[in-house]
Amino acid sequence: MGLRKVLQQGDKSLLRPSREVVDFDARLHQLLDDLRETNDANEGMGLAAPQVGVLRKVFVVTDISGAEDVSIEFINPEIVSYSDEREEAAEGCLSVPNMWAMVDRAKFVSVKALDRFGVPFELNVTDNYLSRAIQHEIDHLNGDLFTKFAGRYLTEKEIDQVMIERDLELRKRRKAAKAAVGARRVRSW
Ligand code: ZN
Repeated sequence: MGLRKVLQQGDKSLLRPSREVVDFDARLHQLLDDLRETNDANEGMGLAAPQVGVLRKVFVVTDISGAEDVSIEFINPEIVSYSDEREEAAEGCLSVPNMWAMVDRAKFVSVKALDRFGVPFELNVTDNYLSRAIQHEIDHLNGDLFTKFAGRYLTEKEIDQVMIERDLELRKRRKAAKAAVGARRVRSW
């Protein structure tokens, strides 16, 4: 199918809870491929199935902590534990364009889920960006938008600033990750 239309705030599908996936079939794989493609096309940090009108517990997120972006797929996810440490940071959503707000969340989480073949895995997420993205996407599966948890909304000027800071942070991470890969290579030789 390819790119799917991202539903916007006001669409009732975004407020309904999703159901568990029971069939790990070609249809699910197509949905996952499309979510990833649509997320990448929109430069998103993550995209959940209800955002494209499919009320199933499925989402993809982009892990930006390494040298290259990695897309991770989650089916029937469940957060196992939240860190005591919390972080308030700017958050936006592909279904709520041009609105950003400060949202207080656990800084790190452990999450268990199934992969596209139904194989269980557990992730101890120690990256605050990824941890925030996972919590945001799980909210979507419960029919909640980030606006429900929003603190202060950002002004247009502040949104620009967040984009610049995020871009710098990403570049910094990318550079550090590349250096680490280089260092490993040196050691192995
Ligand atoms: Zn969202």
